[in-house]
Formats: sequence, structure tokens, C-alpha cells
Amino acid sequence: METLNTLISINLDYLTVALLVIFFTAENVFNTQFKFDKMGKHLLENIGFLIIITLLNLFWATVIVNGVDWLHNNQVGLFHYIDLPLWLSLILSVMLYDMANYWFHRLAHNVSFLWSFHRVHHSDSRMDASSNIRVHPIELVFYFGSSSFIMAAIFGLSTLGLGLYVIIIIPYVFIEHCNIKYPAWIDKTFGLVFTTPNFHRVHHDQDEFYTNSNYADIFILWDRIFGTFKYKQPEDIKLGLKEFDDQKQSFWYLMKTPFINIPRHSDTNLNSK
Ligand SMILES: [Zn+2]
Ligand SMILES: [Zn+2]
Repeated sequence: METLNTLISINLDYLTVALLVIFFTAENVFNTQFKFDKMGKHLLENIGFLIIITLLNLFWATVIVNGVDWLHNNQVGLFHYIDLPLWLSLILSVMLYDMANYWFHRLAHNVSFLWSFHRVHHSDSRMDASSNIRVHPIELVFYFGSSSFIMAAIFGLSTLGLGLYVIIIIPYVFIEHCNIKYPAWIDKTFGLVFTTPNFHRVHHDQDEFYTNSNYADIFILWDRIFGTFKYKQPEDIKLGLKEFDDQKQSFWYLMKTPFINIPRHSDTNLNSK
């Protein structure tokens, strides 16, 4: 318990910066899946999002933690009426928060207003570890905040469970987006239950048939159960979105694009489910 408390008290901003350095270094040392140029510029553009998200979280993370804490202290949610050992409630918390994010992610692909923000993440034609922080700040408010509150309210999940989920998900999504070439056996073993980098790369494919698949962050089980799992050979994947060419990859353009460039039904992946 003490170890867990120490773990979740790690400053998440420091953790994110440390992971960014580690994975950026790894991508320059190990074999990469994709060959890109201008990676330094790409990193700097994506760091713009990290700065905004860090500033936003000074306020937003406090709101989420206090909200979830309030719900838990007021005995709201199912887990308060079931006698579960701590270890089991923590595993279930991580799984349930992940399942909530699966559904919010799926929603973000199917509701035009939400897609206009979420497609900023998909617009990246040079996917690497820094693509993970290319998230529009408004999406972060909707996505992470709503799913945390709803799951805490329904199941009575605690801030301890949320903290554990966050401390797992941050390095996990770095691994998922990292441009390292991973051996195929990972998909065939680990990938039976968990999302692998190759599975998430399929989600970043330009072909909308594949973009609308593999929504899960940690447990690919959700895609397998709810029928959205798809696979494509990594070497056949073409990253990004057709409507975001090289001229539309700058931080400033991506920040304003949801407000000036509302996606039409025909130029998004909203047609297919
Ligand atoms: Zn997506
Ligand atoms: Zn992604």
C-alpha cells in the first residue's frame, strides 16, 4: 500500500518529460518501424501541446481528483455495496477506467463535433512517441474528465484506482506510439489481451476502415469483445489523415483547426462505424 501511494504521488509532468526523453533517445538508437525526416521539428511542434496540457492540468487535474474524491467519500457507486479486497478493486478500477476510455474514444470517432478535436491526434503523419502528446486540450477536458467522473459515479471508483490507472496509462501510451520496430510475437501473445504498438498503428492508418478500429488504450480485449478489433501489417500502414498534408502539421494550425475547419461528413471517417 505504501509502495502504491509512493508510486501515484510521482509528479506526472516530470514523468511525461522523462518518458519523452527516454523514448526519443530509444527511437534514435533502435530499429524504427517508419522512416521519417525532420523529427526534431516534429518533436518541437508536439511539445507545444505538452506545454498547454501541463498548464491546463494545474486546474483540470485538481477538479478531477476532487470530484472523484467527493463521489467516493459520499459513498456514491456500486463498489461501496460490495465487499471487495483492495487488490481486486484496484484491478477492476484500472479495467473499468480503460473501458470507459474505449467508449469515449469510439464516440470521438463518431460524433462530428468530438472528431473535430480528436482528429488533431490522428493528423500526425510522422507517428512517434511525441505523437502521444499531440492531443487538443479541449479533447482532454472532455475525454479524460468525463470518463473519470462517470466511472467514479457508477462504480464508486476511488482516486487511488484513478491514480493507479494514470500511472500505468502514461508510460503505456508512450510505448504504443513509439516508432520502434517490435517483434511480431508480441502481437500474438501479449496482444491477446493488451493493446500493442502495432495494433495502435492500425488505428492511425489513413484508411477509415482501419481508423475506426482498435480504440482501446490498455486492454485490446474491449475491441475484441465489442467487435472493433482489426489488423493490418505494419509495413502496409500509411499514417495520418488525407486532409492533413505537410502544410497542416504545425502546432498553431492544429490548435485552431477544430474552430476554423469543421469536418464535413464526407472528409472524415464518420461514415463508417
Ligand atoms: Zn482515435
Ligand atoms: Zn494514438
